[in-house]
Amino acid sequence: MAGRADSTVLAGARVVLPTGTVENGRVIVEGTRIAGSTPEGARTVDLSGHWVVPGFVDMHNHGGGGASFATGTAEDVLTGARVHREHGTTTVVASTVTGDMDFLARQAGMLSELVEQGEIAGVHFEGPFIAPCRKGAHSEGLLRHPDPAEVRKLLDAARGTAKMVTLATELPGGIESVRLLAEHGVIAAIGHTDATYEQTVEAIGAGATVATHLFNAMPPLGHRAPGPIAALLEGERITVELINDGTHLHPAALQMAYHHAGAGRVALITDAMDAAGVGDGRYQLGPLAVEVKEGVARLVEGGSIAGSTLTLDTAFRRAVTVDRIPVDDVVRSISANPARLLGLYDRVGSLDPGKDADLVVLDADFAVRGVMRRGEWIVEPPLG
Ligand SMILES: [Zn+2]
Repeated sequence: MAGRADSTVLAGARVVLPTGTVENGRVIVEGTRIAGSTPEGARTVDLSGHWVVPGFVDMHNHGGGGASFATGTAEDVLTGARVHREHGTTTVVASTVTGDMDFLARQAGMLSELVEQGEIAGVHFEGPFIAPCRKGAHSEGLLRHPDPAEVRKLLDAARGTAKMVTLATELPGGIESVRLLAEHGVIAAIGHTDATYEQTVEAIGAGATVATHLFNAMPPLGHRAPGPIAALLEGERITVELINDGTHLHPAALQMAYHHAGAGRVALITDAMDAAGVGDGRYQLGPLAVEVKEGVARLVEGGSIAGSTLTLDTAFRRAVTVDRIPVDDVVRSISANPARLLGLYDRVGSLDPGKDADLVVLDADFAVRGVMRRGEWIVEPPLG
């Protein structure tokens, strides 16, 4: 076959594959996919001195670029997704925040259209079924117990695109709701919870598979009352989300999670809000006013940390350079693990031939130098 103009060989880089890192490796891109062999006439891009890793998958993200997935318009969602793409996140799930049920249903309907168009990968409902005493940046007046019928309403509104619901499983109706989600193939995520160790074990037994931002918005680990953290770390079926922005977690807490759960059970997330990729200033998180100072988002009233301004490239770089997590392990937890959980691993999450050509080029200091999504450069590497 004659060479295709849209074939590219990325050569000379350290390529991170599921089997490990290949020095002087190559990734072949043909059209929108990764190919197994080099087509004739393919263009070669020399990426010596760089890393090529799979595109990042963010399963918990509320927005960016000044735009909100939780309350914004379709245009806003596209803006937020674009900003995160420029930072290497080629697959993003849009997270809502606690809101009025009718509003959430309408927002989910809008988001589901963007899922169908391939712009975002699914919908994550964070709240309203969470514990008032662990509400973080969610509006207390709109919180409710997790009634399975209401959970069902949200799933229906998302028309098959709901990927995850974060709930406090110890509340009345919590365990039944976990079962309902598991039956529908939607991730039941334990979070914004005041559960005991025993209550958390029960929820895991009922089918919960994710810990929403482990350590944050839940009781701390105590030696007589180990609480949800111990149960979630030891739960073999649980993947723990971590917000690695240097504010939400101490490096020792992150390292403890990697050590106990293993890299196969960690998902790095941003939990980003509107200010991600923009800067300091005043923002809204759902109905609540947020002030961002030096990159840290806090509620104007009460001062609770209100999501992050993190992008996953920063989370990646911190994990390697500050937390000293091996690159292969970071790649698993930022791409493969969330892709598997979301049921998308046949398309994204690794650089295996046949998958979407979603990849990130990092320099030796782990700064983003290139981002490709479905074979198209979002950020073009400045090299031959
Ligand atoms: Zn969140």
